[in-house]
Amino acid sequence: MAQLMVSISGVRGIVGEGLTPQVTLNFAQAFGTFLGNGKVVVGRDSRVTGEMMKNAVFAGLLAVGSDIIDIGVCATPTVQMAVEHLGARGGIAITASHNPIEWNALKLIDATGMFLDEQQGQQVIRIVEEKSFDHVTWEKIGKVEKYDMATNDHLDAILKLDFIDAEKIASRKFKVAVDCVNGAGGVIIPELMKRLGCETVYINREPSGVFPRSPEPVPENLKELCKKVKEEKADIGFAVDPDVDRLAIVSEKGKPLGEEYTLALAVNYVAQKKRGPVVVNASVTKAIDDLAKKYRSEVVRTKVGEIHVAKKMKEIEAAIGGEGNGGVILPELHLGRDAPLGIALTLQQLAEFDGSISMLHRMLPQYFQSKKKVELADKATATIIDKIIKQYAKEKIDLIDGIKIQWDNEWVHIRASNTEPIIRILAEAKSMERADALCYKFIKEIESA
Ligand code: MG
Repeated sequence: MAQLMVSISGVRGIVGEGLTPQVTLNFAQAFGTFLGNGKVVVGRDSRVTGEMMKNAVFAGLLAVGSDIIDIGVCATPTVQMAVEHLGARGGIAITASHNPIEWNALKLIDATGMFLDEQQGQQVIRIVEEKSFDHVTWEKIGKVEKYDMATNDHLDAILKLDFIDAEKIASRKFKVAVDCVNGAGGVIIPELMKRLGCETVYINREPSGVFPRSPEPVPENLKELCKKVKEEKADIGFAVDPDVDRLAIVSEKGKPLGEEYTLALAVNYVAQKKRGPVVVNASVTKAIDDLAKKYRSEVVRTKVGEIHVAKKMKEIEAAIGGEGNGGVILPELHLGRDAPLGIALTLQQLAEFDGSISMLHRMLPQYFQSKKKVELADKATATIIDKIIKQYAKEKIDLIDGIKIQWDNEWVHIRASNTEPIIRILAEAKSMERADALCYKFIKEIESA
């Protein structure tokens, strides 16, 4: 795997290898140059390398004359919301999201609280490449100001949503088990659970940045949480990734629902209460289409990536949107994936429902997704995808992002990674066996292409 990945949303890599203090400083200085004068919010997840990264970011921003609002260790959606609330020019979240412990990254945010788009990201990359950084003399060097209320503001905004009735949730006296993977979730989730009046038991609550397991909240990494839910006889379990934009749910039976169902549950709830289109990326479960049909909403699909979903949501005034990796976006709150929001919406729906989370899950359309990838060394991924497009031109295909081939109750989505020489293959069907079989069929076709 490459040690440094530069993309429109920022830069990420293994700290001390690809991602050095120099690289970090260059990107921060380039971002400050891109933004021009003004305030920049900086927050970070709990990673051990976060403090070093933060100091490099500070140096880069201060050198161009940007003033910094330091909001400390917090969730990525907290940084996005603080940019908006505090009227900043932009923000930087220092986090490698779900990547392993040795990684870190910068996620760059514009004045709207959304990640940079293609065009903005290219501008920052160009400044880095050309080293056309601004710098100011001593009297214009930026200042650092600390702001401790960003997490509190974020929670206030969630609790103020029309959809959320904290008293109703508290009246159900839910017992909840939570796995924060020792990430930034430990800063925001305990306070959220207190405000929602839940009895909560935790694993991996300390925001130490020392992840006790692989930090992506996919079912195979949630065994300890599943056990905890059963031991404690909890009503539900929640797991978040280290920067708290992705949420996974475990049923009272100690079974992971699969991240696709975090968004499906949220859509099921919001689409009943509010008119408007639902925006999801091309890979998200067909359960969303089935639910939208039921509640007479329209589904609009985008390329994979939060910024693509968020921009489309803004453009068409969507009711709700998100990504199938556990990322729920509600425009009333802000246009970014938000795990604390996902928790509040899930508990609200459960509070209004006369039954358990596994009963609620069973009422949703049931699909199974298989996710595979093919590593191609130096073969051109685009050429292979073009071949498949030609071969399947007569089927019902969608070319928003790679190729998606759709049949009645199943589909295959094949796309090239933006950052690595791999092709990702996702298949969805009415059983896991069938979804796996579809993936393997296309892996064969790709390998022989
Ligand atoms: Mg994340």
